[in-house]
Amino acid sequence: MEYFAFTGKTMGGSSAINYMVYIRGSRRDYDSWAELGNHGWSYREVLPYFMKSENNQDIESHNKHYHGIGGPMNVERFPYIDINTMMLVEAFKEKGLPITDLNAENQLGTDIVQSTSKDGRRESVNVAYIRPIRHKRPNIDVVSEAHVTKVLIDPTTKTAYGVTYVKNGKIYTARARKEVIVSAGAINSPKLLMLSGVGPRHHLESLNIPVIADLDVGSNLQDHVTTDALVIGLSNKTSTMVNGPQLVSELYNYFRQEPKKNGPLAVSGTLSGTAFIKSPYTYEDAPDLQFHFDGRNVKEFYSDPTTYLASNVFPLSFYDGLATRPLLLSPKSRGTILLNHTDPVYGPPLIYSGFFTERIDVDVLIAGMKFVLGLEETEAFKESGASFIKIPVEACSSYVWGTDEYFYCLLTHYTSTIYHPVGTCKMGPHSDKSAVIDPRLRVYGVRNLRVVDASIMPLIVRDDAENQKVKASK
Ligand SMILES: Cc1cc2nc3c(=O)[nH]c(=O)nc-3n(C[C@H](O)[C@H](O)[C@H](O)COP(=O)(O)OP(=O)(O)OC[C@H]3O[C@@H](n4cnc5c(N)ncnc54)[C@H](O)[C@@H]3O)c2cc1C
Repeated sequence: MEYFAFTGKTMGGSSAINYMVYIRGSRRDYDSWAELGNHGWSYREVLPYFMKSENNQDIESHNKHYHGIGGPMNVERFPYIDINTMMLVEAFKEKGLPITDLNAENQLGTDIVQSTSKDGRRESVNVAYIRPIRHKRPNIDVVSEAHVTKVLIDPTTKTAYGVTYVKNGKIYTARARKEVIVSAGAINSPKLLMLSGVGPRHHLESLNIPVIADLDVGSNLQDHVTTDALVIGLSNKTSTMVNGPQLVSELYNYFRQEPKKNGPLAVSGTLSGTAFIKSPYTYEDAPDLQFHFDGRNVKEFYSDPTTYLASNVFPLSFYDGLATRPLLLSPKSRGTILLNHTDPVYGPPLIYSGFFTERIDVDVLIAGMKFVLGLEETEAFKESGASFIKIPVEACSSYVWGTDEYFYCLLTHYTSTIYHPVGTCKMGPHSDKSAVIDPRLRVYGVRNLRVVDASIMPLIVRDDAENQKVKASK
């Protein structure tokens, strides 16, 4: 299955291009990591670090059990609330979901999300952490537009001592006095380790890469898989579509506002409205489904059923339809990342997503789709004139819209993700033979080498170990 690796190749990485939704995961996620033998990672132990990192500007800051003020990363609700975000949250409330602080004790419920932004502007990790100290602290030297090609590891002592990188066509070496810390993300950290001789023996040998440590690097890939093909059409009452001159005027307004931004360009459209529920397939007191709504331009959908899948060509806040995405929070399927045989160093790695290799994953998402269809019956939807577009999409036109078979077809033919890959340099105790790093993020079998990014997650956040054992496809 094709998988587009969408990652931020810039300062701040993917936090510079993401949707800015600030959701940490549930208590169960971190407790599950600890139960797998990762000491120090239980919810009780990680919560102080979340609180320390946060400068929460919202009502949540009053909850001193879960939120912090004064940390480097600003958290707020966007200053502008999109009309359809309100409709969605109201509709979920009518369906019985409570308004919940999605970063507190219990994620089950709905709300307008908190975001990693400040005054309606993105707050990437570069803005929050690097910019305030860059050029100020003597112990940080940022080399931008540099591509690291290898971690240097002494094959005799198995000790990492630096990296090689390419900048402007020239090769350089940076040497480490203490440790090398890799933080290239869940797609590129495994690639870099494998290029450096840390990875599955048979794969490295097939590429003539000398093996330093035979580890399960690249396996255990997980993501929040979904589909983009379940679409709500909006009436003129709540469509926010603009024409060219209106868009120019909005842009002008946005750039004119200082210091606080406001208006539709200071929000990520309906991505601000979300909900977490439990499907009938989970026994835990934590959600296994989340809903995302992404603005779409679907005006022509009646004449051509394929066009309502068209991506939004306008900024996120200007749309006349909503891609309704049930997100699989606890995938059981696993994928793999391998080096590209043609050009392992500069070519993109091979990504085998493994999506839906476990049937239960499809079943949970179908349950999510059935739940979300119920929003149509709410007063909030009826008052707005919002309803699902019930014209079958092209690849699924042989099925009856709204049936399990139709939804199965949507999921397998119009599969998408919201780009949360994790797990490819799995953290685990020594007894876990599939672990790449220990609970202090040190690579097994190599001295002075750590991995510190989303690749270390043993289970994607909102997942749990016990659930993995007991669930069975119904
Ligand atoms: C479109 C999109 C929307 C998302 N929305 C959200 C959201 O709303 N909320 C949320 O919490 N998460 C969201 N995510 C996911 C979130 O952004 C990522 O999980 C997170 O940024 C991962 O952090 P990371 O440090 O592991 O990797 P990254 O952020 O990917 O950082 C890796 C860094 O390493 C650099 N790098 C890689 N290889 C090399 C190399 N060889 N040499 C030098 N540098 C290298 C990259 O350029 C990048 O700067 C989204 C992601 C995307 C792409």
